Order: sequence, then C-alpha cells, then structure tokens
Amino acid sequence: MFNRIYIHVPFCVRKCNYCAFVSGTPSSEELAEYTDLLLRELHLHHRSSRPINSIYFGGGTPSLLQPEKLSRLLETIAGWSDISPDAEITLEANPGTVDYRQLKEFRDAGINRLSIGIQSFDDHFLELLGRIHTSSQSHQVFRDARCAGFNNISIDVMHSLPGQGLEQWQAELLNALSVHPEHISIYGLTVEKGTPFALTYPENSPALPDDDLSADMFELADELLAEEGFEHYEIANYARAGYRSLHNSGYWRRDGYLGLGVAAHSFLREGYGVRYSNSDTLAEYRQGVATGVLRRIAEHQLSQRDAMAEYIFLGLRLADGVRMSSFEREFGKSFESVYGPVAADLAHLGLVVQSSDMLVLTQRGMLLSNQVCARFI
Ligand code: SF4
Repeated sequence: MFNRIYIHVPFCVRKCNYCAFVSGTPSSEELAEYTDLLLRELHLHHRSSRPINSIYFGGGTPSLLQPEKLSRLLETIAGWSDISPDAEITLEANPGTVDYRQLKEFRDAGINRLSIGIQSFDDHFLELLGRIHTSSQSHQVFRDARCAGFNNISIDVMHSLPGQGLEQWQAELLNALSVHPEHISIYGLTVEKGTPFALTYPENSPALPDDDLSADMFELADELLAEEGFEHYEIANYARAGYRSLHNSGYWRRDGYLGLGVAAHSFLREGYGVRYSNSDTLAEYRQGVATGVLRRIAEHQLSQRDAMAEYIFLGLRLADGVRMSSFEREFGKSFESVYGPVAADLAHLGLVVQSSDMLVLTQRGMLLSNQVCARFI
C-alpha cells in the first residue's frame, strides 16, 4: 500500500565533486529511452487502493527529461491510479539545465512545485563543489520559474563548505532570502567516501568547518529564517506557512511510497512495512523491465521493533515531534513501556522535551539528532 510515488532520474550533466548519489552522464539514447522504461515499470506494479497524494521527480537531475515525456508519464500515472486533485507534484531542477520555455512546459504538464538545487550563491563555492552553474544562473532560473507560473518553489543551500566562515554563510542565507522562496532546505556538506572531495578533504581536514562552527551555522540559519517568517518544521527544512513539503513529510510519517526508476527506493505498507530499492545500474534495470522481473535490492521486511524505532526516529525529525497516543494506536503498546527510560534519559540530557502526549527534539537535540535517534534503535 502506498499513497506517494517517487521517480528517480539517475542522470546529470556532470558529476559534482561531493556527490555520492546514483547518477551519471547519459547518452542521448539513454535519456530518450528512460521515460519509456519508467512507463513499462509502472505497469509491472499493482496500483494502490489509495489515491496518490504526491509525486516527486528526484535525482540526479530530473529537469534533464524532456517536458513532453514527463507529461506523458504523468498522464499515464493518472490513468493507472487515482491522483488526489490537490496532489503535490515536485520536480527537482538544477540551474543550467532549464530555461523559461522548458519550465513553462513542465508547469503546463502538471508540475506544481519546483525544488531548485542552488547549493550556493557564491561562484567560488559553486566551482569548488563542481556544480555546472553560476550564481547568476540561479537567480535567472528562479525568475524564469516565477514567470512560468510556479508559486511553490524550494531551494537547497549547503553549509560547512571548505574554508567557509560564518560571515560567508550569513551572506548565503541573505541571498537565499532575497529570491523569496516558499521553502528552503539546508544541508551541511558531508564528505562521502569515493568522491573527489574525499581525496581532497580527508576526515578532519582543517579546511572543513569544525563541529562548533557547523553548529553556529545551523543556529544562524534558524535565527535569520525565523525572523523572515520561516517555520523550522524539520531538521533540515524551513517553510513559509502552508508550504511544507507534503511528499517529504510523508517520508517522516512513514507513508508508503512506490519508487520507480534506477536505484529508486520504495516503502510499501505491508505488515509493518517493507523497504527495498531497484537495481542501481541502468543495464540491470533495463533488463528487469524487459523481462518483467525487477530485482529488489536490500529488501527488508520490518519487524514490529523496527517499525516502532522508525516511527520515533523519523517522527522526531519533525518539529511537531511524536504523539505518544498515536504510537500506542499504531503498535498496541504504550510509548512509556517501550521507550520510557530512553526518553527520560534524553530529556535529562536536554536533547528532547516530553510533555503529556508529545516528544520533541530540543534545538540541541536537532544538532545531535543522529545520536538521539541511535538510542531508539
Ligand atoms: S547535480 Fe546532484 S545528483 Fe547530480 S552530480 Fe550533482 S549532486 Fe549529484
């Protein structure tokens, strides 16, 4: 059972220096065939009995898809399953890959939310990250998106970049606010194994901001964005009223979603839930679609214990936190009997606040969320 669809597009113009996602540079044939593969995959799945509330094109760089192909895909999904009239349909778009005309076509195709991968408004950092765009292209794509009719735009911005200080981070935040997005996602750079960055910036490299500076950056974002009316509704996400990401909120609430495409993850609400991902190479994915037998990688049927832990550590990412009475309804056990001592200990450490029915992270808890979540596993 699922009420959300995620579509992974594993293609990019060029690999960024820090990127550990499944993505590569496609040939024109691969790009052209990909939507046909997605359509064929769709029909290998049983439709959900629930209407689809959100569709998310992520990647990679899904804005490399041709708008007419994406339009065909959305029409086919609408014929295959019920889609809620107010469904959120998001496209991740990278500056340097779209112009006004394409954005208008995406909007006409039914995309009603854009997530723009800006990452930085500073050309020095963009070059360091290996992004294909400049700051002026970011501003342009934002203007083009507004003219094309998008009134729900999110931007991604990264902090803790090599050599970045607090003043530069403040300038990034002010630039981000100056384009007036409805939603801002903020991520600290993580240096992943196997990326060019891992060679240049080994663990504890002096060029990377230390934990204290990263924490100051997190707090500065909180302060500046709150002053401008943004709600810090999830550890890495800020939204104006009414503009939380519905799709991503579904992940944190453990809604079921069907993932389509190379390396796409799915979470189906069967029993306590099953998680798996599709093949992570185009060749194997293509073969699976052709034979009608898609390989499920790392399939995991969750136990009740797994599901309870997920419920807590995903729910705690949200500023709304976890409602203990809902936990009891879902699992037939009181929160207190399962996690009472852990929650009390975390409250004592100032990492969570427990009221009569709610458990929420404190700001310090948000900063140390990985350690907090590990206590529930
Ligand atoms: S655009 Fe995103 S997915 Fe593509 S290479 Fe860069 S970081 Fe990776």
